[in-house]
Amino acid sequence: MSIADNLLKYKKELEGENVELIAVSKFNTTEAILEAYEAGQRIFGENIVQELVEKQEVLPKDIEWHLIGHLQTNKVKYIAPFITLIQSVDSIKLLQEINKQALKNKRVIDCLLQIYIADEETKFGLDHAEAIELLRSEEYLALKNIRIVGLMGIASNNAEEKQTKDEFQELKVLFDGIKLSFFRKEDSFKELSMGMSGDYKLAIEEGSTMVRIGSSIFGARKIKHFKA
Ligand SMILES: *Cc1c(COP(=O)(O)O)cnc(C)c1O
Repeated sequence: MSIADNLLKYKKELEGENVELIAVSKFNTTEAILEAYEAGQRIFGENIVQELVEKQEVLPKDIEWHLIGHLQTNKVKYIAPFITLIQSVDSIKLLQEINKQALKNKRVIDCLLQIYIADEETKFGLDHAEAIELLRSEEYLALKNIRIVGLMGIASNNAEEKQTKDEFQELKVLFDGIKLSFFRKEDSFKELSMGMSGDYKLAIEEGSTMVRIGSSIFGARKIKHFKA
């Protein structure tokens, strides 16, 4: 199936659900992204800053770019002028830098806190206590040019369905608790980004509002040489 066919399939499937499709275009060419764009897709996710910036420069300006990979503080300045959503915030230090660069660009940048839910050592993210500590901190309360609009999580790779489900449930419970405790009056806090090609159906069942789908839209990825 073509990229356009794959997208159409997802569009149909997500119809009527309150779920946004993020097309994860990492390692894919600008031609592939344009094909998705021409099929109507406008939201794309990338996980490496340099790759994102190079693509953003040449692709249509009405694309909404989400950063979904680990972000180093010294790279924030490159994406601050245009990024729509940073899904991978995992420290107050990073949030402070995003705030600083957002201010320089006279904007407010939307962010998700990335929560560690997988049973693996390799994934970035905050645990529950760290997320709550961040939201309670004076450093956070002082930031005026960022807005936290939800949480993001990556489930364990190749886990049993039951475990994946548990991990998504855990994230949803945390989301509901944080919403109630810190964002009760803020309608903008409403995004729960969970689910990828292999587990998006489970994620939607458990309350996801954003699925990040890469390989099953774009197929085998084509570029291999972007260095962080
Ligand atoms: C690559 C990636 C995805 C997409 O994964 P697929 O399995 O290709 O759908 C989603 N989220 C994050 C954070 C990723 O790095």
